[in-house]
Amino acid sequence: MNDNNQNDELILLEDEAANPRRPASRWPLLVIDDDDEVHAATRFALADQTLLGRHLELVHARSAAEARAILAARRDFAVILLDVVMETDDAGLALVGHIRETLGMWECRIILRTGQPGYAPELTVFNNYDINDYRTKAELTRTRLITAITAALRSFDQIRTIAENRRGLELIVKAVADLMEQHALTQFAEGVLTQMTALLKLPLDGIVCAQRGSPFDDDRDRLYIVGAAGKLAPLIAAPLDDLGDSVVRTAIEETITQSTHQFGLDHTTLYLRGAEQEGAVYLDTGGPLSEADRQLVAVFAANISACFSNLNYMEKLNFAAYHDALTHLSNRSNFIVQLEHALRDGQQGQVVALIDIDHFADINDGLGHDVGNELLVAVATRLEGALYGDCRLARIGADVFGVLGPHERLRPEALTALFAMPFEVGEHLLPVNVKLGYCRLEDGGGSGFNLLKRANIALNGAKKHLSADFDYFSCDMEEHTRWRLDLIRQLKHDFHAERLAVWYQPQVAIHSGEVVGVEALLRWPSEAGFVQPPSVFVPLAEYSGLIVEIGEWVLSEACKAYHVLSPLQESPLRIAVNVSMPQFRTGNLTERVASRLGSSRVPPSALELEITESIAMDEPKTVIAALESLRALGISVAIDDFGTGYSSLAQLRALPIDRLKIDRAFVDEIRDGKGGLFAETIVTLGKKLGLRLIAEGVETPEQAGFLRALGCGEAQGFFYARPMPLEELRDWLAARQARQ
Ligand code: C2E
Ligand code: MG
Ligand code: MG
Repeated sequence: MNDNNQNDELILLEDEAANPRRPASRWPLLVIDDDDEVHAATRFALADQTLLGRHLELVHARSAAEARAILAARRDFAVILLDVVMETDDAGLALVGHIRETLGMWECRIILRTGQPGYAPELTVFNNYDINDYRTKAELTRTRLITAITAALRSFDQIRTIAENRRGLELIVKAVADLMEQHALTQFAEGVLTQMTALLKLPLDGIVCAQRGSPFDDDRDRLYIVGAAGKLAPLIAAPLDDLGDSVVRTAIEETITQSTHQFGLDHTTLYLRGAEQEGAVYLDTGGPLSEADRQLVAVFAANISACFSNLNYMEKLNFAAYHDALTHLSNRSNFIVQLEHALRDGQQGQVVALIDIDHFADINDGLGHDVGNELLVAVATRLEGALYGDCRLARIGADVFGVLGPHERLRPEALTALFAMPFEVGEHLLPVNVKLGYCRLEDGGGSGFNLLKRANIALNGAKKHLSADFDYFSCDMEEHTRWRLDLIRQLKHDFHAERLAVWYQPQVAIHSGEVVGVEALLRWPSEAGFVQPPSVFVPLAEYSGLIVEIGEWVLSEACKAYHVLSPLQESPLRIAVNVSMPQFRTGNLTERVASRLGSSRVPPSALELEITESIAMDEPKTVIAALESLRALGISVAIDDFGTGYSSLAQLRALPIDRLKIDRAFVDEIRDGKGGLFAETIVTLGKKLGLRLIAEGVETPEQAGFLRALGCGEAQGFFYARPMPLEELRDWLAARQARQ
């Protein structure tokens, strides 16, 4: 047996099946009759007949059963000539029901023939089963047979065309919906190919989509192949000139020059016009398209032209979804995808580094957003220039860039060195410092999202260090983070359940010991003492932003305390309340404070706000503006923990403040007969700047005496009183009053 031959035949058969719309050479006719003579007569009558331009292909069945067997294998008959009486009196009628209902063959035409006029079927059978003709065999002379078959064929052709059109339109609707979802050009072109071949039932081979302008670079004039299948597929994205087949080339060129569809003898070329593009689809149809197909194809082309117009827009949207508009670098989502790929590829020695620009907000506030933006672009450009090749760069936050690459290239020294030179932005020369957070791929927790999150944990760590500007993620960091998050959750819950408390610590005039004020201090009580001290939970409340709400509540409690405590005093009482950075960032701190004082009827002069030195220095613009408006109301401002920050004299002078609070650490140095050099310096400095002074953490009479000798006016500390709940303080004050 010749295997090759058989394979060739198979291929031919498959081709035929895949391409049923190529003009069939013959009308297939099924003749069903139990009378051999009828078969012979029919064959004789129809031999060599050409009806509606085609020959007939006769298939013969001698019984209803044989006909069923044939129909089980093929159903493309245009006309069925059917004997009514065969195995049984109504075998033919039963077969009609089978053909229409069971097999669902509604398009083929059926002509019933009968030998005995008495067996005419009921009229309902004609209607229900769509029967074309009913004739006695005697009636069907050769001419009449041909006339009847011709009429049936014409009717079949029309019915089929309508059905095809409906199918085609359904396909178009579906195709347009599908194509609308295709965003990239090559996918779009592929979509056109698939839909086109489905519509015309053509093989994929022999379809070429071309457009004017390169899909990948700036060449806007030449024609480029944007879709091709089969042997032409490798030519996608190549110029059309590279296509060897001049027939295809010429057809596409002509179609585009003439801006119309071209229907040739064995091919069709569709013209596509988009808002900014034009293109053509070449189809090797192997024969002329029928009028119905031409109409379909034109409707299809009109619809895909609309998609074609959308395409540019889609590409832009697509780009926007994955890129940062300012720097054109990948954005966060895209970066996460790239991290996923890197994790999947399991590349050794790779890290993710996050690069955070220090004090970017100040540049934005101080020099304006345009300068801020230009700086970001300049940083992006410098990073891109230095990290080309095997590194991937992205902008993942306002002032945070992410890089994925070999650790060798991204070491802290290497990245920091990129920022050694200042950036030229407009007329400014801006020095930039960065903090770096690292996570090794193997420490990434298995997903791009986790990897980024962990690098960010490391970055937050780096921001807190004083010694180094970078940090690497380690697992205990994450544990710590989880612990922090749990604590924040619990704090939020307890705050809303009104479980927080405010305690008060007296502030005294050193020379007289008279109470001049109280500082409001937050407490988080638990069944046995405290859940956490403020030094732990206040930073968490700040980090989570919860401090804004809590701070407002502390102020309202402090206002209530003022009304409880001030009647117990002869001299006016000052209430000191601590304020955190997030409260300044709300932008309406002054209004909130003013409204609280107003509603609680507390004079602004009774309120002192304490801000730490680091707050005042970190975002001076925001803070200075707020302090000015607060002081304009009559509220006073103290710098807390003074001496622990790094403020220069010049910076200090620029701050609108009333008082310095000498940090406990410097007061602590005053012991064992030794004075505190720093405390002394701070007192001198405060006096020079015309500021009032208070020392905190005074625990011994020695410290009090030393500070008094220095000329520090006020003090606060365990030596005088510990912080205590309001009722306790009320009793404490009342007892003192009684003693005097
Ligand atoms: P701070 O504002 O510097 O408060 C003074 C801290 O020193 C208090 O700690 C106080 O209990 C403690 N202290 C007072 N006298 C002595 C002493 O003689 N010896 C020693 N060793 N310590 C003394 P506390 O209450 O634990 O508060 C810690 C920090 O938490 C505060 O430092 C403040 O920065 C913050 N904080 C407390 N309450 C609030 C609040 O309502 N809002 C804000 N934003 N921060 C608050
Ligand atoms: Mg304080
Ligand atoms: Mg303090």
